[in-house]
Amino acid sequence: MLKVVKFGGSSLADATQFAKVKDIVLADPLRKVVVVSAAGKRYPGDHKMTDLLYLIHAHLQYGFSQDDIVRIIVERLTLIRDQLRVDYAIEEDLSRIFGSLSKDISIDELVSRGEYLNAKLMAAYLGYAFVDASSVIFFGYDGQLDTAKTYQALQDAYTVHQKMVIPGFYGSLPNHKIKIMSRGGSDITGSLAAAALDAQLYENWTDVSGILMADPKIVKDPKAIQRMTYAELRELSFLGASVLHEESVMPIKLKHIPLQILNTNEPDHPGTLIDEKFELEEDQDDRFVTGIAGRTGFYVLTIYKEQILADTSIVRKTLEIFDNYHVQIEHITLGLDSFLLTVSSAQIRDRLYDVVGKIQSECKPDTLDIEENIAMIACVGRRMRYRPGISGKLFSALGNHGINIRIITQGTNEISIIVGVESKDYIDTVKVIYDSFMG
Ligand code: ASP
Repeated sequence: MLKVVKFGGSSLADATQFAKVKDIVLADPLRKVVVVSAAGKRYPGDHKMTDLLYLIHAHLQYGFSQDDIVRIIVERLTLIRDQLRVDYAIEEDLSRIFGSLSKDISIDELVSRGEYLNAKLMAAYLGYAFVDASSVIFFGYDGQLDTAKTYQALQDAYTVHQKMVIPGFYGSLPNHKIKIMSRGGSDITGSLAAAALDAQLYENWTDVSGILMADPKIVKDPKAIQRMTYAELRELSFLGASVLHEESVMPIKLKHIPLQILNTNEPDHPGTLIDEKFELEEDQDDRFVTGIAGRTGFYVLTIYKEQILADTSIVRKTLEIFDNYHVQIEHITLGLDSFLLTVSSAQIRDRLYDVVGKIQSECKPDTLDIEENIAMIACVGRRMRYRPGISGKLFSALGNHGINIRIITQGTNEISIIVGVESKDYIDTVKVIYDSFMG
């Protein structure tokens, strides 16, 4: 039995944070596998280690001196080592990495060193084995993870070490060169380790006490979500709730491993527990809505043609056109004489006239309307299913506040209701929904 615990950059920003991590790890003997990010910001305006490493690479490419940035990194990491009195000769690694930098260094190799050095520091500090991600996380040349090889290597490493620290965010290619993941990728490393080792829990330690029910920039002190299902997480993340790297969910979800989001600075807070489903007795919360997420910046295209339902070829052709222009459609609503497509502005803005021209010439609609500045807001909750009156309550609350709903969609799994409003009403919509269901 074991738990995989992943700590994000803010949990490892300085010696004080390292000490908190040690207390957390040692408080539970099941926390045997630790995955770490690179050092994050210590205060607003500070720099993340990963960003500094990217900056060094850019300096090298343009022939500017990287000495100042290297000095910041060296001082920062050496200070952590000294303050914690960790028995790790970090100078050797630092001079090997930064002593002879050249323009030809691979960006992946350089940028991954933030996680590498942090993991070595943490392993020495905890008395755990350091297991380099390049020896347990494997990619093919196509950039796809080699799952079988990765899981086998992680299992082998665990059999040998039992207690280990693995740097997140990178792995290696078949030619042994380092390959990094996309930003925030340490979440994926943690998830892979949890899945490979059949962990009983994947703990993701951050600087927030769980996932909040709504964006705190919009709603004052929103409550944290205690429990949510993977399906709810997906719905909320789709419309903007940024919690953890989206690719990190699949490995643990497939193995039915629960995920807990916890706060290093408030370790006794239960945070948010995410699982496939919850038994009825442990799911007694009376709130129907789990969370609200949304985004502005959508375009809505409405295509009118009489009897569209009788001849759906126009729908098919339109979808093909979007596909050909690589524009992802977020929502579709089909009516008797029209259908409506919602797409994000960022996706379509530079192709709008081409796409519209193609639809006009190939589908010959009676009319085609384009509306900009639409916001989409998802109201998500597994308990909304089969429960009459929820959408009625939502729509009347918005109506009472004079908010005009432009689009209504219900997720096919009945765990989300999505409304589209004008962007100017976005903030009010989120507030009204929050107040009516959670206030
Ligand atoms: N250090 C990397 C980043 O800043 C990866 C991670 O933190 O997960 O994106």
